[in-house]
Amino acid sequence: MTFENRTVKAINGVEIPQLGFGVYKITKEKEFETAISEAIRIGYRHFDTAKIYGNEEALGREIQKSGLPREDFFITSKVWNTDLGYKATRKAFEQTCKKLKVDNLDMYLIHFAAPNDLEAWRAMEELYSEGKIKVIGVANFEIQHLERLMKHAKIPPMINQIETHPEFAQNDLHQYLNQHQILHEAWGPLGQGNKALLEHPELKRIADYHHKTVAQVILRWHLERGIIVIPKSSSPKRMKENSQIFDFELTSDEMEQINQLNIGKRYSVNPTGYMIHPIYNKLMKLFIK
Ligand code: NAD
Repeated sequence: MTFENRTVKAINGVEIPQLGFGVYKITKEKEFETAISEAIRIGYRHFDTAKIYGNEEALGREIQKSGLPREDFFITSKVWNTDLGYKATRKAFEQTCKKLKVDNLDMYLIHFAAPNDLEAWRAMEELYSEGKIKVIGVANFEIQHLERLMKHAKIPPMINQIETHPEFAQNDLHQYLNQHQILHEAWGPLGQGNKALLEHPELKRIADYHHKTVAQVILRWHLERGIIVIPKSSSPKRMKENSQIFDFELTSDEMEQINQLNIGKRYSVNPTGYMIHPIYNKLMKLFIK
């Protein structure tokens, strides 16, 4: 089966591949090399990284090694908390581009709502106007963070990348994003591989009916909500499996059954007041080059 690069449009008309590939926690050099070259071979062109993941350089290398033109790829990175601020964010952007070996980014996100994020946004608006970023947005922003940002912004954020999976459907934020024409991108779309979720009997029943796996059903549920997904895997078999989600549809009853699994349970950090702690940021600075 050929890889389908279906896209969704950001408010400025830029097309974003709805299925991307997340590279968080693929840290061992050899594993990273094999995973990315295999992902590219399978057909993935949209890659999601961040300064804090420490693998921008390795991703840039693999993209260059592929021999494919730069414009075939959609590359996202994120500015970390310690680089928020006007000058610091412009500098962080330059460093990220250098590591990725690119002149511009397809998407650049503020990783967390944290001190100096409004000044960082001003830098991002400027970089966008200079044509250096195609889509500017945020990650882990709650409604109150978005309201505050939009009150000060000249250009509203075009996307919000947030934890989303069937047990944490983010219904209120999803509705808010739709109302404001901000795209919803799911991180942890497979619940970060949570075993209980991937073996959930209701999801298993739906998957069996469609001759699909639970992971494919979950990813399809996201697509039908209009969400962009960036599942991560180092296994070629799973990468392929995660890409075969465009050849079936869930009925409205099935969508509703999956919606019923929402219990508001985060598997990861609550972005309000966790990562923004100054001591945490100081510690992180020691680890990030
Ligand atoms: P995920 O939901 O993509 O789950 C990844 C795990 O699921 C893998 O480790 C693997 O064990 C398992 N998996 C993958 N495919 C599978 C399949 N077909 N069957 C069974 N298990 C499968 O979680 P994630 O990696 O945390 O999120 C995806 C991407 O989102 C990251 O790589 C990163 O790029 C991004 N992310 C962003 C933030 C943020 O703060 N903005 C936070 C976390 C992750």
